Amino acid sequence: MESAEIRRRWLRFFEERGHTVVPSASLIADDPTLLLVPAGMVPFKPYFLGEVKPPFKRATSVQKCVRTPDIEEVGKTTRHGTFFQMCGNFSFGDYFKEGAIRYAWELLTTPQDKGGFGLEPEKLWITVYEQDDEAERIWRDEIGVPAERIQRLGMGPNFWSMGVPGPCGPCSEINYDRGPDFGVEGGPAVNDERYVEIWNLVFMQYERGPGEGKDDFPILGELPAKNIDTGLGLERLAMILQGVRNMYETDTLRVVIDKATELTGVRYGQGHDTDVALRVVADHMRTSMMLIGDGVTPGNEGRGYVLRRIMRRAIRNMRLLGAHDPVAAELIDVVLTTMGEQYPELLTDRKRIETVALAEEAAFLKTLRAGTNILDTAVTETKQAGGTVLSGDQAFLLHDTWGFPIDLTLEMASEQGLSVDEDGFRRLMKEQRDRAKADARAKKTGHADLSAYREVADRSGGTEFTGYTHDHSEAT
Ligand code: ATP
Ligand code: MG
Ligand code: MG
Ligand code: MG
Repeated sequence: MESAEIRRRWLRFFEERGHTVVPSASLIADDPTLLLVPAGMVPFKPYFLGEVKPPFKRATSVQKCVRTPDIEEVGKTTRHGTFFQMCGNFSFGDYFKEGAIRYAWELLTTPQDKGGFGLEPEKLWITVYEQDDEAERIWRDEIGVPAERIQRLGMGPNFWSMGVPGPCGPCSEINYDRGPDFGVEGGPAVNDERYVEIWNLVFMQYERGPGEGKDDFPILGELPAKNIDTGLGLERLAMILQGVRNMYETDTLRVVIDKATELTGVRYGQGHDTDVALRVVADHMRTSMMLIGDGVTPGNEGRGYVLRRIMRRAIRNMRLLGAHDPVAAELIDVVLTTMGEQYPELLTDRKRIETVALAEEAAFLKTLRAGTNILDTAVTETKQAGGTVLSGDQAFLLHDTWGFPIDLTLEMASEQGLSVDEDGFRRLMKEQRDRAKADARAKKTGHADLSAYREVADRSGGTEFTGYTHDHSEAT
């Protein structure tokens, strides 16, 4: 089943059951606490928080999501993309636990010729929060899932809150057993690659008070109106329904891998490292185009830096695979054509997206040409001196003079067996920022032209990858 059909069936199923179909919001979150949208519930947050009265009691969507914290997993696990689409159904004080569980089971197990996804019930494993007896009872007694395929998990995976006082509650996840090819048995509690998580049901049931961290806060009581928030990864379901081993081989991403193999001459399946690189290229090129499509432009801070980092990583992986010429144009073309079917604005906006992406590629290739020699020299010197750590000075020089983002230095150094003195690097960055600020203050008092400061700040400031710290809200 094609990705487009999965999406159609999802929306139709919930629309037929009284849900209002809400189009995907932009990846640029309309929310000061988030850089980018990491989950389908984000556009509905004001309703869940009770800040705005929802215009409907039930809604469904297929939301574009970006999760930068998952970047290191891409291509290595079978199931993590930096961009993916989250299919969701939401209830605002309407149906609750039993309703959400029944819908999920019905949609997943109804045969394909009757409008469902036709998954075999014996392959579905359920996790519930360890104290959620009610959810376990519904799965076992109402749905008929055998007790041995229901596992209890703790707060970490199976209790949801926004990290601040407000709604919270237990989750229940539906996982699909991909069989012994994917490792040992024992259910999702034991092996999360074999028993891949496809759907998370969040039961917003309680109100939490203030507290530290993810699992240390008081529960103040039951919410007057209980809500449902669910998220199913479209690419993960596509992976199962298309019978492929990982999400990068599903219809909308495989074409990008194929283009990359054509451009590099590296065959997919040739070796582990080249396969990972090809998957990274496919994932990252797509994420980059979706971000540019939603108006993000490459830069040194915030969203711009997320985009820059992801896109540069794609291009560098193409070079590791052996590409020498600019490669973005052809990869972009495949991504836009494929994704344009679901997101027509990518096609109407094609010219602008291409212009932004190609300029970034050109800038990066220039940086790489200049910086790679310097980095190689630094690595050789370090090794000759018997060291294993590239100094903070060297990393700073690469950044300051050659525009090498620190994570590029980290990655390239580690490929050559070295680590980097990151603390030293950050100290020098901070010193430089402080100097720039002091300069700016001095200039301000003398009515100086502040654009000079801005230039310095652009070059030197805010280059830390804020994506990790600021965008880690795995909201569903
Ligand atoms: P995992 O444990 O596999 O990392 P998760 O628990 O972080 O997944 P949720 O936050 O529950 O995921 O998101 C809801 C659904 O979105 C998941 O069940 C999964 O199908 C999908 N999903 C989450 N992260 C990704 C990703 N990086 N790439 C593709 N799909 C994802
Ligand atoms: Mg995750
Ligand atoms: Mg999980
Ligand atoms: Mg989950």
